[in-house]
Amino acid sequence: MALRAVVPRADVDVAAALAAVAPICEDVRARGVPALLELTARFDGVHADDVRVPAHALTDALAALDPDVRAGLEESIRRARLVATDQLRGTTTTEVVPGGRVSERWVPVGRVGLYVPGGRAVYPSSVVMNVVPAQVAGVGSIAVTTPAQKEFGGSGHPTILAACALLGVEEVYAVGGAQAIAMFAYGARDADGAVVVEPVDVVTGPGNIYVASAKRYVQGTVGIDSEAGPTEIAVLADATADAVHVAADLISQAEHDPMAAAVLVTDSPELADAVDAVLGDRVAATKHAGRIEEALRGPQSAIVLVDDVDAGLAVVDAYAAEHLEVQTADAAAVAARVRNAGAVFVGPHTPVSLGDYCAGSNHVLPTGGTASFSGGLSVQTFLRGIHVVEYDERALREVAPHVVALAQSEDLPAHGEAVSARFEGTAP
Ligand code: NAD
Repeated sequence: MALRAVVPRADVDVAAALAAVAPICEDVRARGVPALLELTARFDGVHADDVRVPAHALTDALAALDPDVRAGLEESIRRARLVATDQLRGTTTTEVVPGGRVSERWVPVGRVGLYVPGGRAVYPSSVVMNVVPAQVAGVGSIAVTTPAQKEFGGSGHPTILAACALLGVEEVYAVGGAQAIAMFAYGARDADGAVVVEPVDVVTGPGNIYVASAKRYVQGTVGIDSEAGPTEIAVLADATADAVHVAADLISQAEHDPMAAAVLVTDSPELADAVDAVLGDRVAATKHAGRIEEALRGPQSAIVLVDDVDAGLAVVDAYAAEHLEVQTADAAAVAARVRNAGAVFVGPHTPVSLGDYCAGSNHVLPTGGTASFSGGLSVQTFLRGIHVVEYDERALREVAPHVVALAQSEDLPAHGEAVSARFEGTAP
């Protein structure tokens, strides 16, 4: 508990961002499409008269897609589909007593809204990570939204539109940020009251602090996957780790957002110094040096020195990173002891950026410590377990005295009577 209070965290968290996000969500709830268009103009600089991306924009984007990017997306889809398919659970049926059965049936939600980020960077990979598990789960109605891009005529980014087309998604909106999450949660009507966007059952996807905060705001109205906000990487490493690789991995995740977090936890002062030196050499040479430097200098990033790997495990569990790399001797054994993380990347050849695109795992993962109670996006996010209970007369008669006794203990006698009424006038 005490450790949790001292792990590095950003100054602005999801709770703090609610003050900015709540009025945006309420505006969308009250005014629908006119509010969406005004917010898109304010935050994305795009003056549009429609929120929906037309069908031809999707097919045109796919036709113009770079073949190498297409091949990468196809491989990413193939691997994600393999993993998602294996995640499907069958119905379980338990014969509690002869004649008394409880089953759990996994049923997809009817309609989902999937968020694909596109502010500082654009994320066609997030189309794959959202859409593939929803499709494998059997969701019937899938809508995607992504921020409007000024340099692409106010539509979504063409690679994102192409990825949607590749996966057969036809309902796509060019709306970003908190307003997009509210659009899916509440649905949206135009100025004449006609429905433009039907509300969804579940909203998923990664995004910046405003997106993550809006998901917290609408949760309850809709389901969400997790608070998948600004990216975090923690690396648990000992003296066996390669400082250049560790530094490259920290930089790669800091590249997402000035609010991204990069944390090294090590029992080796020599490794700490070496990583620090490589960061000093390399950051300035990277394309997005500005936001990487901001992320690494922020209170959310740190190098934490610990006495040994056991102490390191205590720190990374308290931190509950979105991504945790284990680069120690016996990495698999150490990784098996981790309790809190969105995803764990084991050993020297499993960098987080592999998981961002092509490992087969999902990259939409909980942040800000929420990995201590929630997990990453998966097929399960889109399914609900429905309990199906069926007892025959003999099985009900047998358990009736227990039901009556428990109902009386709760002072809810009508509960017991609902059972005993079925046997009135019959032999026990
Ligand atoms: P984004 O699409 O998440 O956010 C862009 C939107 O933010 C804009 O459309 C705008 O509406 C809104 N916005 C910007 N400034 C605002 C303000 N001051 N007030 C209210 N709204 C505002 O794109 P991004 O900004 O590039 O962020 C992508 C994020 O996704 C990064 O933080 C990255 O780390 C994160 N990410 C997380 C995961 C995960 O699974 N946790 C995975 C991939 C990416």
